[in-house]
Amino acid sequence: MRTPLVAANWKMNGSREFAEQFFKGLDLEGVAARVAICPPFPYLPLLAEKVGERVATGAQNLSEQANGAFTGEVSASMLEDWGVRYVIVGHSERRSLYGESSELVARKFGAARSAGLIPILCVGESREEREQERTLEVIDTQLHAVASINGGDCWENAVIAYEPVWAIGTGMTATPEQAQGVHRFIRGRLGEAGAKVQILYGGSVKSGNAAALFGQADIDGALVGGASLDAEEFSRICRAAQ
Ligand code: PEP
Repeated sequence: MRTPLVAANWKMNGSREFAEQFFKGLDLEGVAARVAICPPFPYLPLLAEKVGERVATGAQNLSEQANGAFTGEVSASMLEDWGVRYVIVGHSERRSLYGESSELVARKFGAARSAGLIPILCVGESREEREQERTLEVIDTQLHAVASINGGDCWENAVIAYEPVWAIGTGMTATPEQAQGVHRFIRGRLGEAGAKVQILYGGSVKSGNAAALFGQADIDGALVGGASLDAEEFSRICRAAQ
């Protein structure tokens, strides 16, 4: 049995006041899922004070380097130092807006695991790639890039987030059946660890579509962007993951 995980990706949103209010509004009564909140870096210590047993903190990015002259970077061990448990790696915004290559994503994934953090590796196809029926090929290539640098047994203590790029922040969601097909494919590519790895769906998840997605056999929760900025809405999504 895999415990569901619902992770909030605040992206570059929020403030100290927002974080305070968010925690006041977060209602996890009756929630069976694990919950992770991934705020911008400056708010991680603030959140670390607030999270308890049921909620963990996550970062949205990390350096592939351990330490040294890398101005502006944050290492895995620094995150670990602040009690951070998860880190998002290879989000499509970082791949497309900041030119992160699959090799860099793979190195970040390895850096996270070496420090004992759980990487949430994002994979997903663009609209064009889906129209060309290349979805599975694209995802296979993204997974292979990580395994080729970190070894085929690297999926232990990792989370995968299937995030079709065309569904992120657009209000368009993959149907539960579309998502399930890709999740099943991903699980089959993870070797021995496959049965244990949590595979999240991401892309315009809301309380209105969450239950149908979570009802699929290989969908183990969600990575939530926009809807995670509303504590009540995010709480409803968490409650849908049983
Ligand atoms: C994301 O950015 O990871 C995401 C899933 O965003 P949204 O929920 O807004 O589509």
